Amino acid sequence: MVISMHNLIIVGSGCAGNTAAVYAARANLKPLVVAGHEPGGQLSLTTLVENFPGFPEGINGPDLVANIRTQAEHFGAQYLHGTVIQADLSKRPFRLNVDGEWHESQALIIASGASARWLNLPNEQKLIGHGVSSCATCDGFFYRGKKIMVIGGGDSAMEEANFLTRFGEEVTLVHRREQFRASKIMLARAQANPKVKFLLNTVVEDVHDVKQNLVTSVTLRNLATGNVWEQAVDGFFVAIGHIPNTAPFRGQLALDPDGYVLSTGGARTNIEGVFHAGDVQDRIYRQAITAAGAGCMAAIEAERFLESEGH
Ligand code: NAP
Repeated sequence: MVISMHNLIIVGSGCAGNTAAVYAARANLKPLVVAGHEPGGQLSLTTLVENFPGFPEGINGPDLVANIRTQAEHFGAQYLHGTVIQADLSKRPFRLNVDGEWHESQALIIASGASARWLNLPNEQKLIGHGVSSCATCDGFFYRGKKIMVIGGGDSAMEEANFLTRFGEEVTLVHRREQFRASKIMLARAQANPKVKFLLNTVVEDVHDVKQNLVTSVTLRNLATGNVWEQAVDGFFVAIGHIPNTAPFRGQLALDPDGYVLSTGGARTNIEGVFHAGDVQDRIYRQAITAAGAGCMAAIEAERFLESEGH
């Protein structure tokens, strides 16, 4: 049974989805925003955001995304708390199953984001925003003159390690193997950086200290020797990849091999009337401001599409 019918449904309530909602609501499209399993997206996991233009003193990530939502609601966007578990994009209206109930829409903006992959350490989630981070560009600045650790052996880890040497007194890159997934050039850059130290064949067992609500050290284990030790650290950056939240659209929407939405130009996808915004398509920039810009683009394209279809 279909519960509701809309001109536009926006999937995701991070910076991209909420900005799309502001534009679409101002265009009188009365969008329905499906907030998703991480309402507010990745910004809701950060603390101070200092690089979003217009806030000279910075703004808290959760406040920023909540403000954009308030702005969208002010213009008439509706929010639905739930997660898309199934989608039928084979014909219009498109149909979305949100926690067991079907909703229909003439156009769709997919702004469901990408979730950082975490190590699943016992204390990791408790210290996010208090020393544990998945975004060097967002949080590196807070570790000026401090000890920083980066986990991972891919391009993201190399890039973050290099970037973080601008701030940290030292940056230790911890990787579970001796071989790297990173491209040769990115690896060479990190290896040539005198501030980056490598700890290979090493895994993290846990991060501390929950009592102080602050990262102070990690427990490490060398996989070759079995040696376990504790190492002091202030900033703990996990850079082991992201998972785009596209599972309900698999098999219908064109995705790249890693599951990111493939753009066919602008905010368009391979399905007419379905648009993308933010990290669900963008594996390069991943910034609040680029996501907001992408949300704006998707809403404008959706508005033009709906108008051309007479809605
Ligand atoms: P990635 O290439 O998938 O690398 C992930 C790394 O994390 C791997 O080294 C992997 O180790 C490690 N890892 C995964 N799970 C782990 C776990 N549970 N514990 C410890 N280590 C774990 O991811 P990425 O670095 O985010 O890159 C994703 C894509 O974006 C790539 O195509 C990359 O080239 C691209 N990218 C490009 C740039 C650039 O060109 N500027 C920058 C960033 C990313 P194993 O190797 O042992 O599996």
